[in-house]
Amino acid sequence: MTNTQMAARRAPNIDCCEPSRVSPYVAGLVGTCPRCGKGRLFSGLLRLAPSCSECGQDYSFADTGDGPAIFVMTIAGFIVCGAALWAEVVYQPPYWAHALIFLPLSALVCIGLLRPTKGLLITLQYFHKAEEGRRAS
Ligand SMILES: [Zn+2]
Repeated sequence: MTNTQMAARRAPNIDCCEPSRVSPYVAGLVGTCPRCGKGRLFSGLLRLAPSCSECGQDYSFADTGDGPAIFVMTIAGFIVCGAALWAEVVYQPPYWAHALIFLPLSALVCIGLLRPTKGLLITLQYFHKAEEGRRAS
């Protein structure tokens, strides 16, 4: 294999991607690249990969800030507090039982929802070309 062939093999595969065929909702919830839908978006639980391993899309545009945390806190609060209120009204368990059930439940719900929510916001940011506002000069 020549050097040119090796360089072409390592270069990002730009032709593989048709952005209109990739659903930002599916790609975000699954955690795949918003451009090609194949490469991985995350390199850890919540750490964003620097770029797509399949198409080479640079993920430096992605800046979700506190958005995923706000959505997850709202949704998890609704689920966990609703379940705790329902349990209190129906079964009236002691407070230690509430703590034993609903503290781990809140952690599981928050951790479980944070990655898909972050992926969804990043892919929607890519899809809508959202970026920080700038003043026209
Ligand atoms: Zn990609």
